[in-house]
Amino acid sequence: MNEDQVRKARKQLLRELPDPTEILRGSLLDRRIFHRRGCRKCRRGEGHRVWVLTVGYPGGRTRQFTVPAEHKGQVQRWLRNYRKLRAKLEAICELNHELLRADL
Ligand SMILES: [Zn+2]
Repeated sequence: MNEDQVRKARKQLLRELPDPTEILRGSLLDRRIFHRRGCRKCRRGEGHRVWVLTVGYPGGRTRQFTVPAEHKGQVQRWLRNYRKLRAKLEAICELNHELLRADL
């Protein structure tokens, strides 16, 4: 790629960036909780399905957040946005390497 093409590719990536305010890092897990007593569903072994967002931090620390079912779709969308944003930023960095080389 020549310099012009690199700049064009960079602009294209910029246009493809998801809204950087609608992002979440982590994984959404499908879990089941069981009540100890007084719940027929749990006595039957069915339990209740809950969605849990787990987020890892440096040093191996993790945090977990329960995600209400009505927010599951949004959380999945935001997780996708985050992965997409990171991938696009990484691609822009790679293009910038080429620009640096062109300047040398
Ligand atoms: Zn229950």
